[in-house]
Amino acid sequence: MRSTSLLAAACGLLICGTANAQNNAAAATQDTAYDPVGVLVSRLDLEKYKSTIKGLAQFGDRRQGTKRNRDAVDWIEAQLKSYGCQNVERITYEYNPAPPRPAGGGGRGNAPSPNGRGRPGNGPGGSRIFSDMRERGVNNDSLAQPDPAIRAINMEPTTPGQRQEVICMKIGTKYPNEMYILGGHMDGIGWGQAVNDDASGSAIVMELARIFSMPDVQTERSIRFALWNNEETGLNGARAYAEQRGPMQGKESPAGSGKYPEPKWLGMIQHDMMMVDHGPPTADGKLAPEQRPEADINIEFAITSKFADDAMKMAFFWRAANEKYATHYPAAVGPHMTNTDSDPFKDLVPSLSLRENERGSQIGGNWDPTHHQPIDVLTTFTDKDFMLGLTSAQTTLGAIGQLTKATVKR
Ligand SMILES: [Zn+2]
Repeated sequence: MRSTSLLAAACGLLICGTANAQNNAAAATQDTAYDPVGVLVSRLDLEKYKSTIKGLAQFGDRRQGTKRNRDAVDWIEAQLKSYGCQNVERITYEYNPAPPRPAGGGGRGNAPSPNGRGRPGNGPGGSRIFSDMRERGVNNDSLAQPDPAIRAINMEPTTPGQRQEVICMKIGTKYPNEMYILGGHMDGIGWGQAVNDDASGSAIVMELARIFSMPDVQTERSIRFALWNNEETGLNGARAYAEQRGPMQGKESPAGSGKYPEPKWLGMIQHDMMMVDHGPPTADGKLAPEQRPEADINIEFAITSKFADDAMKMAFFWRAANEKYATHYPAAVGPHMTNTDSDPFKDLVPSLSLRENERGSQIGGNWDPTHHQPIDVLTTFTDKDFMLGLTSAQTTLGAIGQLTKATVKR
């Protein structure tokens, strides 16, 4: 504005009129073209994303109920505080499972149903697995981890008792009483470093917390960042949050303060296993060596959930955000969201999960042989894998930036 009026003052109307009009037109075009959400997406960086994943991997598989898990919770909390994320809090709950049955079983939800292969409903979440391949159960053998340093970090067994998980918030300027929840789970299993499952999703949530907490960023609505614990034992951390925080939704506290410790939930978006889309496994059930060129992100909603229609619309909104903002990989929408922390929310609010593959038909068919295995370590993954994770970060940032009407001070 200033340079335009200076220009108008400096020259006679007759000669400079055209130049001035052009100048105004250029400024107007620039304003319509200016997209603050694009600015925020451009602040995502592959090296920063990788370094957050490495930060989590230093605590090994971060199995719940161990010191390495508690240390990781402390580290996450310190990171969120260093970003300037608002209202950094801990959710505290008890986890006291029944003693394990003597006969070992595989992972949860991954057994083929008795109706046999290739029939509808034979995979997790009501999906159909068309191949003979099935994911393996959780690795519980310390000696299957060839790296002695990683094996040593993972030695302490889990014990029942109190658990904690960290959350923080971006407080909306216009509607601080409403928010979207972004989640990833920080705990893992399998005697590796839980890099893909789920440092890759946790790092997306942390990177978005970092960017939305920058001092020049404002959003009209609030955003919750949640680093769930106990996903691997049955979503206990996410359930504890839903139980404790659900009844607090939208309540101003203290009254008249303009503060909402738990804004009303508008949607929940989980990020779990974000990096591997190498296609079907090799004939001997191993990870295919390269990220496939057709790799994509899978945005899933639960078609059987109470909010199925709204969740489906939200899923396609996420897909559109991918087309608008992602630099590398496309996204696809599927109806069988399952086996992750969005599950406890799906009948309370529209909910999605983002993944590297469809959880049911593809991971259920062993498309990710790193899942809960000792090879879920940093050395397994290349930049093409990390880039798929960053593409999901671009997608969610693009979507949530639009939904919360994010702006950047210029
Ligand atoms: Zn997971």
